[in-house]
Amino acid sequence: MSANHSNAAKQSAKQSPSKTLSKQRMLGIIGGMSWESTESYYRLINEGIKAKLGNLHSADLLLHSVDFAPIEALQATGAWDEMGAILANSGKRLQAAGAQGLLIATNTMHKVVDDVQAATNLPIIHIADVTAAAIKHQGLTKVALLGTQFTMTQDFYNQRLIDAGLQVLIPENDARAEVHRIIYEELCQGQLLASSRQYYQQVIQDLANKGAEGVILGCTEIGLLIQQADSPIPVFDTTAIHAAAAVNFLLSH
Ligand code: GLU
Repeated sequence: MSANHSNAAKQSAKQSPSKTLSKQRMLGIIGGMSWESTESYYRLINEGIKAKLGNLHSADLLLHSVDFAPIEALQATGAWDEMGAILANSGKRLQAAGAQGLLIATNTMHKVVDDVQAATNLPIIHIADVTAAAIKHQGLTKVALLGTQFTMTQDFYNQRLIDAGLQVLIPENDARAEVHRIIYEELCQGQLLASSRQYYQQVIQDLANKGAEGVILGCTEIGLLIQQADSPIPVFDTTAIHAAAAVNFLLSH
């Protein structure tokens, strides 16, 4: 910064501190899983803050973006304790940097949310809870869930939806495997294929035929591939819902 710029900045800080100090609560994001969806979070949260506060306002947040490859390798071997320790460490680093609350920017890694909670004791915006609330707000009770195999089949996620009063439908075996494969081999690597979009549309149609009134895009990259116009039933994009909850947190003093 040049001397002139630096003096001007000091002066304006002196004259109007209310314009230079953020009034937002500080949120820490554990991201990078994958970075393709963390980028969506960053944009959506900033758009949300701009919509509420206007002008040049933007989100006051911290992001710790982890290396996803070792996480994916640990997922494949079921080493959840190790992943819990990695995310707990990430949460502690964000806390030390000033985070007053945390957001884990992936559905799957909420499997270790308790480890992050225990390590930090900070409020954590749980992605399944805010998604269930959005669905109930629309008056729906029976929903399809698309995500990784972990998210679709394990209690840490779907039981949370059931406990919130929802009925959850998931794809059959083969379809689950393909939905999962597309997430890791394509979406998390920035590949958006028309053939995969059609495949997801077919899976959603099948679940709608079985009575699903809405579909949860329960993986933070699916919203890159599927939008409302691609589905015959309402879509609940967990990335967008989670980002909206983050905006509420930032502004909830
Ligand atoms: N982002 C994905 C999710 O929401 C999958 C990647 C991961 O395993 O975290 O579940």
